[in-house]
Amino acid sequence: MEDFTEEIDHYLSRLFPLTRSLTGEGNRETLKILQEIIPLDIKEYPSGQRVYDWIIPKEWNIRDAWIKNSQGVKIIDFQKSNIHVVNYSIPIHKKISFDILKEHLYFRKDLPEAIPYRTAYYKRDWGFCMAYNDFKELFNGDDYFVHIDSSIQDGVLNLGEFLIKGEIDKEYLISTYICHPSLANDNLSGLILTAFLAREIMKNDNNFSYRIIFVPETIGAIAYCAENEQYIKEVDCGFVVTTVGGPGKFGYKQSFNKTHKINRVIEKVFCDNKINFIIHPFDVHGSDERQYSSPGFRINMATITKDKYYEYDYYHTSLDDLNFVKAEYVNSSLNLYLQTIEILDNDCIYKRVNPYCELMLSRHGLYPDKGGTILPGVNTTDELDIVLNLLFYADGNTSLFEISEITGLPFRLLLKIAQKLQQKQLIEKILI
Ligand code: ZN
Repeated sequence: MEDFTEEIDHYLSRLFPLTRSLTGEGNRETLKILQEIIPLDIKEYPSGQRVYDWIIPKEWNIRDAWIKNSQGVKIIDFQKSNIHVVNYSIPIHKKISFDILKEHLYFRKDLPEAIPYRTAYYKRDWGFCMAYNDFKELFNGDDYFVHIDSSIQDGVLNLGEFLIKGEIDKEYLISTYICHPSLANDNLSGLILTAFLAREIMKNDNNFSYRIIFVPETIGAIAYCAENEQYIKEVDCGFVVTTVGGPGKFGYKQSFNKTHKINRVIEKVFCDNKINFIIHPFDVHGSDERQYSSPGFRINMATITKDKYYEYDYYHTSLDDLNFVKAEYVNSSLNLYLQTIEILDNDCIYKRVNPYCELMLSRHGLYPDKGGTILPGVNTTDELDIVLNLLFYADGNTSLFEISEITGLPFRLLLKIAQKLQQKQLIEKILI
């Protein structure tokens, strides 16, 4: 397993405090920092632009926010946590009664120490989020002074795109979202993993091409699809990378066709790594697969996850922080994504050059010297066994990945020996 823990940790700490949203300075800053990892192309879409059934919203920025009590004491402070303010809150600066204020306060009685995360993207509203414990202690029915120094103006929506050209044009799509402020698993972990995944893919000689995008969830994905419709239609399959850094179990959300190869490859990688995993069957809720798998595109999009969104107690609260998420968890998830891509990128169909009967392996330097004493194993990882399996299944119909499914042998080993047999001109690659 490759170890990127230290670098991941660095970017977790740097990117966590930024105030991200659908639009705004925090998103641009995030994308700029990711440019240190990969040469990301930062795109912009103007407010008001129509994208399918949606309209790009005005740009939201926030500088400060607080609530003061009648003694002038700050009892909520945006500088201490950017999720104290409902995302996309309109500006406000006035004294109000508790009765009015309480309509704009959000907390969770079931998780009294956590600040919940709330948004008001498409209605002009304002609000504050706080721990229920603080609410009980700090509010006593007095008048309060409320201040939100935000702006909602014509501007742009930003997203990041990175294209990696492979041997063939057929593409895999890897998408992650960048719209959550200081929340670590959902989805800072996802965007950092995606950047490192892209960097590693970039280093390879790839067969496939990769379209890697960093978008604000929903509206960003829709905008990207609208602008790139002809390309998205050609995408083979892909991943929505999210919630990959929690302490809980690994799992994966299946794409809409559960027998699709992408799901089978993910399961194979879990099995090869001896990881017990949770299957989250496809449903129409979720992340940006809602756009990519819609009828016009119908792309199979899967998600490998560690503490999936919706499923962990701290989801969308201040407790989803850097105590909950660890760089080493993100690193483990990254390695699983890398192995999955390795299979998807290298899977191909081989055909025996001479398909009749067994080959005389000793003539090709493939048979151990003392043949008589060898007892056959069942799909062991001995080279001889792998050679026999490959020569049996290299029929021009069965892909290398399918051979790994049938035999239970690790894909990487099969690939290595297949390349050796190809060099010896015993098998030929007929299809990527
Ligand atoms: Zn979320």
